[in-house]
Amino acid sequence: NDLRENLTYEKFGGAIRDLAQTIADDGYEPDIVVSIARGGVFVAGGLAYALDCKNIHLVNVEFYTGVGTTLEMPVMLAPVPNAIDFSGKKVLITDDVADTGKTLKLVYDFCLDHVAEVRSAVIYEKSHSLVKCEYVWKRTDEWINFPWSVEPPVVRREGQVLDA
Ligand code: 5GP
Repeated sequence: NDLRENLTYEKFGGAIRDLAQTIADDGYEPDIVVSIARGGVFVAGGLAYALDCKNIHLVNVEFYTGVGTTLEMPVMLAPVPNAIDFSGKKVLITDDVADTGKTLKLVYDFCLDHVAEVRSAVIYEKSHSLVKCEYVWKRTDEWINFPWSVEPPVVRREGQVLDA
């Protein structure tokens, strides 16, 4: 099955505005946006601006170790956010996609222990996700190409001599 959902940077701009509008219409005003690196960082930056929220935190979660290979369970990597920063706050967790939902659930449960309220926003949610996000731009069960990861990392070109 080579059906793909293709997100471009151009479509991403509209998706973030739509998602932010849905959150605003719902009356949710987060104090902190918590992004799940790396894909959730793009979503967090866009939503924080659109929602006029100046506070962004970041958590690193490792789950996928290669193409189609995962750890048993996702793990939060150091530095883990300080619970004091979250106490009594309204938090919005962001990621690019909730697929199995395990990554989001890990961060969601961590936040639940500390905060006043926690909700989550993703661009995509798959139907088998064990977390049902409050805010979803689009539902799909296809593999998604994201503009930030669809191309391999750049490599240094030969003969690029920079003058001092
Ligand atoms: P989950 O824990 O929900 O299974 O996976 C979350 C992470 O897996 C995402 O943040 C993303 O990095 C990766 N992932 C899951 N599904 C897809 C997909 O369809 N396309 C891409 N590019 N990454 C995915």
